[in-house]
Amino acid sequence: MDNQLYIKDVVTLTYDETKCTGCGMCAIVCPHRVFKLVNNKASIVNRDKCMECGACVINCSENAIFVKKGVGCAAAVINGLLNNTEASCGCGCSSN
Ligand code: SF4
Ligand code: SF4
Repeated sequence: MDNQLYIKDVVTLTYDETKCTGCGMCAIVCPHRVFKLVNNKASIVNRDKCMECGACVINCSENAIFVKKGVGCAAAVINGLLNNTEASCGCGCSSN
């Protein structure tokens, strides 16, 4: 699962580095290690692994992150169909 890539280049994740205080919460809560702290700033290192769960957005007190929550569920379903595997977005929706 950790090697799962969602559909490339359609992830809605955006991040404003100027607002980041380097608290590291986004790196801690992200289940796919999309964020990493580099020189006390968050950095997106695995953008295509983002499943758009919204955990980083909720936990960023500086509102530095935006993601269109829930799109990742649809992407997981489509990805599952394309790969002929069971879709699983990890959020508990009906695609599991
Ligand atoms: S949670 Fe927000 S403020 Fe904290 S490191 Fe991540 S982007 Fe920066
Ligand atoms: S939306 Fe979820 S998967 Fe994407 S970067 Fe944030 S915590 Fe990670």
